[in-house]
Amino acid sequence: MNSLSKAHVHERLRREVNFGCPVPKCGSPFLTFHHFDPPRRVREHSEEAGMIALCQKHHDLADGGQFTKQQLRDMKANPYVTDRLQCEWVWQPESILVLLGTMAFIGPRPVLWLAGVQVVAVRREEVPELSSAVMRVDFDLRAPNGTTIATMKDNIFDASVEGLIIETPPQGRRLELVHSSETVLALELRAYELQLLRALLEKTFSDNGSLADVVVAEALANCTDSDGKVPVLKIHGTFFQLGATLRLTAKRSELTIRWAGGEEKVDIGGRLFHAGSGLSIRSDGIDHLRFGS
Ligand SMILES: [Zn+2]
Repeated sequence: MNSLSKAHVHERLRREVNFGCPVPKCGSPFLTFHHFDPPRRVREHSEEAGMIALCQKHHDLADGGQFTKQQLRDMKANPYVTDRLQCEWVWQPESILVLLGTMAFIGPRPVLWLAGVQVVAVRREEVPELSSAVMRVDFDLRAPNGTTIATMKDNIFDASVEGLIIETPPQGRRLELVHSSETVLALELRAYELQLLRALLEKTFSDNGSLADVVVAEALANCTDSDGKVPVLKIHGTFFQLGATLRLTAKRSELTIRWAGGEEKVDIGGRLFHAGSGLSIRSDGIDHLRFGS
């Protein structure tokens, strides 16, 4: 079986359990894939009927023989998550460098607004038990008609699974949301050592090497954690707003503006935003699109 059809099987298995571990009272979105009929030691296969998406904890229990085949089949048919997926999120970096497409943001701050709605922001939160602070990622993702697709607030992820594909690998580095309206939000948090950070930023700002050097220096001075690494939150996605489409990828930040006679693409390019700085695209007194500040 090739990797593409394997990916399709995995996507169907995630969808089958509504993107949360199906064991009663679990619902964790960090899913792995368990082979139970037949087990893998008997035969390698990718047969959906004999596989189930489970969180790592329940996968280990299943490997230990804690569930019968019938119980697993029942969980496939009646998963714990029905319409809403709600769970506690795992990210708590000590510091952060945000890369929104090709735009770099130093430290906690709002990063993206659409039509006055703060879509993604990072804020600093004191943790009294640890007498230290962590960075929290908040988002409010909406469809082009303004309805809420998914939110993250106070470290609680909440989404209606209707029309949504959710992917979060078990190690928790990535969260990808693809909505039927074609709105996409992909977040990845990973701590980089200096050499890898430099390589990442040189790739991100490939047409502006001096900007890559500046962002490396700023990130080292302001965003280094106690392991000496720089936690980087990468945000990619496709967002729609009043006849305009914003596309953010690892290599491009592009705004497409449409009107009756045609469309125009604007390459926002590589940029660095310090605390308190931002860029907004306004018309009729409304901030249609805003980065930072
Ligand atoms: Zn579970």
